[in-house]
Amino acid sequence: MDACYAVDKELEKLCDKYKSANERISQSLDDFIASVQGYANEINQKPHDETVSGEVKATIKDFIDRAKATNISVGNAHKDLHGSVSKLGKTVDRNFTTDFSAVITEGAFDGEWKQRLLNEVICEHFLRQGMLDIAESLNEDAHLQLPHVRKEPFLELHRILESLRQHILDPALQWAEQNREELNRRKSPLEFKLHRLRFIELIKCGAIKQREVLEYARKLAPFADEHTKDMQLLMGSLLYLHEGVQNSTYSFLFEESSWVEICDIFTRDACGLLGLSVESPLSVGINAGCKALPPLLSIRQVMQSRQVAGVWSSKEELPVEIDLGQEYRYHSIFACPILRQQSSEQNPPMRLMCGHVISKDALHKLVVGNSNRFKCPYCPVEMTTIDTRQIYF
Ligand SMILES: [Zn+2]
Repeated sequence: MDACYAVDKELEKLCDKYKSANERISQSLDDFIASVQGYANEINQKPHDETVSGEVKATIKDFIDRAKATNISVGNAHKDLHGSVSKLGKTVDRNFTTDFSAVITEGAFDGEWKQRLLNEVICEHFLRQGMLDIAESLNEDAHLQLPHVRKEPFLELHRILESLRQHILDPALQWAEQNREELNRRKSPLEFKLHRLRFIELIKCGAIKQREVLEYARKLAPFADEHTKDMQLLMGSLLYLHEGVQNSTYSFLFEESSWVEICDIFTRDACGLLGLSVESPLSVGINAGCKALPPLLSIRQVMQSRQVAGVWSSKEELPVEIDLGQEYRYHSIFACPILRQQSSEQNPPMRLMCGHVISKDALHKLVVGNSNRFKCPYCPVEMTTIDTRQIYF
C-alpha cells in the first residue's frame, strides 16, 4: 500500500504539472491563432494592388519572431513533461517489485496436471463472479472440458443473485423452499428474510394493498417463534399503513441494506450447501500473496546480504511468521510452547492433567526412561502419559 501511495504522490505532481503546462500552451496557441487571424483579416481588407508598407513588414517580422519563440517554449514545456513522465515510470519500477524469483517455489506450477488445476481455479473464479463468457472461453482455450454439472451450480447461484440485486425475490424463494430442510438444519434465516422483504415490498404500496398485506402476514406466522423481534416490528409497521410507513418510525424497514444483507445470506448459504467456500479460492490466494510477499521479499534480501540464504531451504515452510489478519484465519492452530512448532496430525496437541497443553513429541521427550511418568514443564504436577488427552481443533 505504501508503494501505491508513493506512486500516487508522484502521479499527482505530474498531473498538476501537466495541467498548468496544458493551460499555458493552450493560452499561447490561442493568442497566436488570434494574431494570425487578425493579420489575415487586415491583409484581406486591403486592395490587391496596394504595396505593403515598411511599418507593416516590421510588424509581421516581429510577429514571426514571436511565433518562433512560442514554438521553442512549447517544445521545452513538452520536453519537460516527457521527462516527468519517464520519471514516474521509474518511480513505479522502484516501488513495485517485478522479480519474485527469489521467493518462488520452483516448479510450483510445472506439469500438465498442475497447470490444469490452476486453470480450473481461474475458470471457477470467473464462474463465481458471473463472468460466464470469459469462463467459457478459458474452458475452451485451456481444453478444460469442465462438465456441465460443475458449472450449473455457479450458473444457478449467479442467476438468483442477479435477480436479488434487481429486487426480484421469486427465484431465491423457490431455491429456499427446495432446500428448506438443509437450511433449517443450518439454522439459516434465509427463507424468513426473503418473506420479510416481500412483506416490506407490499407495505411500501400502502393501504391499497391492505388485503394482500394481511394475507401475507399469515404466511409469516410459522416464523414467528424463531424471529419474534422482527415479526413484532413488521406487525407494528401496519399501524401506519394508511398514513404511509415511509414517514413513520418504521421507515428503516425500507433501507437498502436489507437487500445487501439478503445477497450476503444467500451467497453464504448457497456456497455452504454446494460445499464451496464463500470467498473465491483464487482471490483469497492472491490477496494473501499480496500481504505475504513484501515481508518475504525483504527477509530474503536480508538473508542474501548476510549470506545466510541457505537458512531458508525448506520450501514447505516460511522463514518468518506472517500474520494475514483475522479474515484469513480459517482454523485454530496450536504451536507447541516447548518445541516451538505448529502441531500436525503426527504431532498433535496433548492436554495434561493440570490443564497445560504441549505437543505429543514434547511430551515423549519429557518422559523419563520407561516409567511413563513425567512432570509438567509449567507446573510441577506429576502424571503418566495415560493421564493426557489429545486435543482436536
Ligand atoms: Zn501444568
